[in-house]
Amino acid sequence: MSNSIDIASVGRNWRLDGVTVPSPSDVVTEVFASDVLTMEELRQRLSKPVWRSLLATTERGDALDPAISDTVALAMKTWAMEKGATHYTHWFQPLTGLTAEKHESFVTPTSDGTAISQFSGKELIQGEPDASSFPSGGLRATFEARGYTAWDPTSPAFIMRHPKGAVLCIPTAFASWTGEALDNKTPLMRSMEVINKAAMRGLRLFSDTETQRVDATVGAEQEYFLIDEEFFFRRPDLVMCGRTLFGARPPRGQELEDHYFGSIPDRILTFMTDAEHQLYALGIPIKTRHNEVAPGQYEVAPIFEQANIAADHQQLVMQVLKNTARRYGLVCLVHEKPFAGINGSGKHVNWSMATNLGQNLLEPGETPHDNMQFLFFCAAMIRAVDVHQDLLRTCVASASNDHRLGANEAPPAIMSIFLGEQLSEVYERLLSGKGGSSKRSGLLGLGTQVLPKLPQHAGDRNRTSPFAFTGNKFEFRAVGSSQSISFPITVLNTIAAESIDALSSAIEARMKKKQSFEAALSEVLKDTYAKHSRIIFNGDGYSNKWHKEAEKRGLINLPTAIDAIETLNHEKNITLFSSYNVLSARELEARQEVMFDMYFKTVNIEGETTEWIAQTQILPGALRHLREMASSGIAITAVKRAVDELSVAVDAISDAIVELRKQNHELGGDDVHSKSIHMRNNVLPAMNAVRTAADALERITAHDHWPLPLYREMLFVK
Ligand code: ADP
Ligand code: MG
Repeated sequence: MSNSIDIASVGRNWRLDGVTVPSPSDVVTEVFASDVLTMEELRQRLSKPVWRSLLATTERGDALDPAISDTVALAMKTWAMEKGATHYTHWFQPLTGLTAEKHESFVTPTSDGTAISQFSGKELIQGEPDASSFPSGGLRATFEARGYTAWDPTSPAFIMRHPKGAVLCIPTAFASWTGEALDNKTPLMRSMEVINKAAMRGLRLFSDTETQRVDATVGAEQEYFLIDEEFFFRRPDLVMCGRTLFGARPPRGQELEDHYFGSIPDRILTFMTDAEHQLYALGIPIKTRHNEVAPGQYEVAPIFEQANIAADHQQLVMQVLKNTARRYGLVCLVHEKPFAGINGSGKHVNWSMATNLGQNLLEPGETPHDNMQFLFFCAAMIRAVDVHQDLLRTCVASASNDHRLGANEAPPAIMSIFLGEQLSEVYERLLSGKGGSSKRSGLLGLGTQVLPKLPQHAGDRNRTSPFAFTGNKFEFRAVGSSQSISFPITVLNTIAAESIDALSSAIEARMKKKQSFEAALSEVLKDTYAKHSRIIFNGDGYSNKWHKEAEKRGLINLPTAIDAIETLNHEKNITLFSSYNVLSARELEARQEVMFDMYFKTVNIEGETTEWIAQTQILPGALRHLREMASSGIAITAVKRAVDELSVAVDAISDAIVELRKQNHELGGDDVHSKSIHMRNNVLPAMNAVRTAADALERITAHDHWPLPLYREMLFVK
């Protein structure tokens, strides 16, 4: 008894019953953000003075006035209960990269045997989850065991629904009692202030006196796989690790390319529609959906939002996709590489900066003045990526993303910028001082060419660059599909701010020496480009040629997550984060510790799971087949051949299991750093050897003796 799935029934065990979808016009008028406590909703429920005080906090970043908290809490509770919520939770983002919640009932029993509903300002502002088992990288150990959660009034509260009820979720930061960040949101919020300050400084240089605030904006595209849950539950590797640890390549992979942007199967489309409606209710502006490159792979993308909110929403997107899939007999896999040899999943983080007046600072302008401003901010990004290649690599480093980065379909582990030919040419001209080109018109009077109007969707979109300029924003493509986007955004905000400051300082220094702003700007742009243009690469990032070229240019290559994480506490990075008050040295080192720890634990679990499945499922299955053949009494060549082949392959996997078991027993030292090195250097290769042996066996073992659903089943039965 092994692989007894009735394949014919798989893919049919879902029903459309009970799926009701609102009409498109209802979505616009009634559904969108209906489960979000919007500022407008709050305005109607609060007195003017309270409302104004709250607005000062959410819009200008003023400290929250504790006096208004009870009133706001009451309004929130009333709204939530009207929506059917029975509980509330402080919703936070521990360093696991996931979200955490601890539900508290609104209902409080009283001494006279009745109950009242209660939710005070104190409970709104601060919570105390029993958080001793969240990773803290040692930050908590030395001080206080517990951490506390603190309301983030800039991200709206929302209702999370489940089949039998609803919960009010209050976005919160999570910190130790000494005020050190234990989460992903706190540094992100700090970095939003940092980018605001630096960009405002830059804008003032351009004589902008109108803009009051600059926010980072983010739109994150999410790639994911869907497989039938029948298969999922028969794959202990998927259940334990989120990826398959075994599986021979199917006869057909993605060679036919008929899946990419192909028509979406009914079951999938219904799932998507359902998920989107829930996301709409949460105020998440989902815009596009389509099939991705690999069979069974899809993508969803929202319209961009203020980065802190986008990060909260991104967590919800993953959660809603996963929960909704189950209603359709599907399981949503957000792992970076669920299937070896098949395209992995990324999360493209589109990043830009926007003023409170709606101007996108990375949008090439119509006028020479706007263009120079654009070139200024864009040059700052070129400098930022060059100076902090290591940080960009590290903020996407994980055991799971290692299967993707540098593999032949994902952006390489070497950081570079794709600017496109046109924009590169503009900078080149600026550098050489050659102004006019007969092809394009306009001179700024600085001997510089005015930036030609770049097409919104430049034709030469590059899919192989980890960091691509795509017309009016940068697309950070190295981010992993399962990870929180908070730390990548934090890094982007901080390195952008530092570079904007560096350019601003250089301009100001020249102006002090009586250079005009225009001349100073032009010189600084030239200097910046000359110094950092090595980071620009418009070619094929997957090619071997680029690896050699990158080495010649002196770019950093950190092939594995461990190599990258090791750089996180370098002096340069500690100085950057601490000077901008985004992360203290201790907070940064704690993060490094947690990253090593997560790497170690991930591979450790994979190693144990590989050994377990190989030893207790695959080997016995193959042996049963071998025994059947060997004892069949049929003296023909085919049987003899099968016995010979199977014998060799079974011995091979048995040897590989022995080695893996040995490596699994080793701990690799006492600290998480050396443990994770052991995982990378010894456990991963031993796992791969077991897998290679198993995948070879899969091709010669009778299907009814093979214990695991096959790639060809999981990827193609929809
Ligand atoms: P394409 O990838 O075809 O260029 P879009 O330009 O519509 O498609 O954008 C892809 C993603 O980039 C979307 O998630 C979108 O919200 C996001 N995006 C667009 N403009 C910005 C911006 N100014 N800041 C951040 N993200 C943006
Ligand atoms: Mg994409």
